[in-house]
Amino acid sequence: MSCVLTLNAGSSSIKFSVYSADDAPAELASGQVESLYSPTASLTLKWQGEKTKTELGQADHTAGVRAILDAVAPVLDGQDVGAIGHRIVHGGTIYDAPVVLDETVLEKLAAFEPLAPLHQPQNLAAVRAAIAAFPEAVQVGCFDTAFHRGHPWVNDTFALPRKYYEQGVRRYGFHGLSYDYVSGQLAKLDPEGMGRVVIAHLGNGASMTALRDGKSVASTMGFSALDGLPMGTRCGQLDPGVLLYLMSHEGMEADQISDLLYNQSGLKGLSGLSNDMRTLEAADTDEAKEAIAYFVFRVRREIGALAASLGGIDTLVFTGGIGENGANVRAKICEGMDWMGITLDAAANQDSADLISTGSVSVRVIRTNEELVIARAAIAALGAGVSAAAE
Ligand code: ADP
Repeated sequence: MSCVLTLNAGSSSIKFSVYSADDAPAELASGQVESLYSPTASLTLKWQGEKTKTELGQADHTAGVRAILDAVAPVLDGQDVGAIGHRIVHGGTIYDAPVVLDETVLEKLAAFEPLAPLHQPQNLAAVRAAIAAFPEAVQVGCFDTAFHRGHPWVNDTFALPRKYYEQGVRRYGFHGLSYDYVSGQLAKLDPEGMGRVVIAHLGNGASMTALRDGKSVASTMGFSALDGLPMGTRCGQLDPGVLLYLMSHEGMEADQISDLLYNQSGLKGLSGLSNDMRTLEAADTDEAKEAIAYFVFRVRREIGALAASLGGIDTLVFTGGIGENGANVRAKICEGMDWMGITLDAAANQDSADLISTGSVSVRVIRTNEELVIARAAIAALGAGVSAAAE
């Protein structure tokens, strides 16, 4: 009997989980390494109902993966790690499905670093660290972009001279592992409601996707994970003229603009307080209220835009930390949307029930599970007969 490990590496964190490698993968343990590249890196392990924290001191991605290896040893209890599944932000135009990571593939993925400079290098650093720590394991890459590769050309391009499209300046779309999981769950819950679906993944990162018969046809995120909805610290949709202004009038360099758009904007920038929706809901300042109002306004606008791209809407699904738990935010988003068939059942919404609507459009709350999508892909690569797309 072997296990699979999933790794989800961010710039300063690595989330991990251990699953049994069988037809119905069970999560045996999970955890997170946090504050990498600071003197206070730490590892939290959740196992057998207990949560333990280990201080790591200064640690990079390699040290973080080694610490995960140590932490999961008692969980494995002598079982092999047969495969490791990695969340990788960018599969470029090449990958529309998970892939076994060998040297050739890793070189191709490194070529996409300019497309996701804040995420792809960290993802690949974790892969290299995992290869060093588990040289016998099959390493599998699962891409945030893969789910969206079938977009029609009008939703894949920008209106720039053609050569930029050819060199990869496209609307890739992200959060694909979450959309994969949620659409798979919806297909089981309500196969009839799968025709025209909008999924709102509202977490610290946020995006929305339109699906026709389970396939992504449009998404609010595009070339980078900045576009579309405002997020915890990211700006969301922005007139490119603002960038020209920041460069020519404020004399800002690329790395300053990058920090502004990725780290200082969104809910945090608007509220001047926090990137965290719960903190803003609890705060009694005009700025916090306006930050929430902007977030709600943009989600409502995108519901309309994505429904238009589908020619209507049968199902709206909320997922992600805000989407799954934020009853007040969901209520504000759906307020006055009866004209398009969206009417919430106030009590069901308050309970974050599976089905929270009474109108012609089914509105659902589905808890996402990106780790399970990665684990299934890793198990499929092990040849255990489990498809990454099926549960
Ligand atoms: P990430 O994108 O980092 O995975 P999550 O999906 O965990 O983030 O979402 C984090 C967001 O969810 C935070 O803004 C947090 O405040 C919000 N959130 C969590 N629980 C609630 C709640 N009960 N009400 C409103 N927002 C919530």
